[in-house]
Amino acid sequence: MECIFCNIAKKKVDAAIVYEDKDIIAFKDIHPLAPVHILIIPKKHIASINDVEESDAGLLGNMIIVGKKLAKDLGTADGGYKLLFRTGKHGGQEVGHIHLHLIGGAALHEEIRPLNVEWERK
Ligand code: 5GP
Ligand code: ZN
Repeated sequence: MECIFCNIAKKKVDAAIVYEDKDIIAFKDIHPLAPVHILIIPKKHIASINDVEESDAGLLGNMIIVGKKLAKDLGTADGGYKLLFRTGKHGGQEVGHIHLHLIGGAALHEEIRPLNVEWERK
């Protein structure tokens, strides 16, 4: 199975790694959307949030703790940031290995809305 993020975790593909422990690795997004844009991933392959098991709760919690630590280290903790999991087609997920985006370093658009769909708030 060819998974680009598994290959980054195994160091078979280069990435600008900013954090690593036995279960988690974090690296700079290749196409950053903001001055800080890091992807935090589990080393084990999980395709998406839809595939998370209850036994992964600790791992996912630790990914958030890594996000908090990196936000501080990279100087965006006080200004603020987003931690984001995209999931599936409508969520805009393009890489099928779960990844937590840490996006910050500047004020961010708040826009999250349906694409090309008539929708009214009830
Ligand atoms: P998604 O849309 O799946 O939530 O986000 C995937 C992210 O992975 C995108 O922001 C994209 O720029 C990033 N990405 C895709 N391939 C690579 C890669 O080979 N290396 C790195 N560092 N980032 C990647
Ligand atoms: Zn993978």
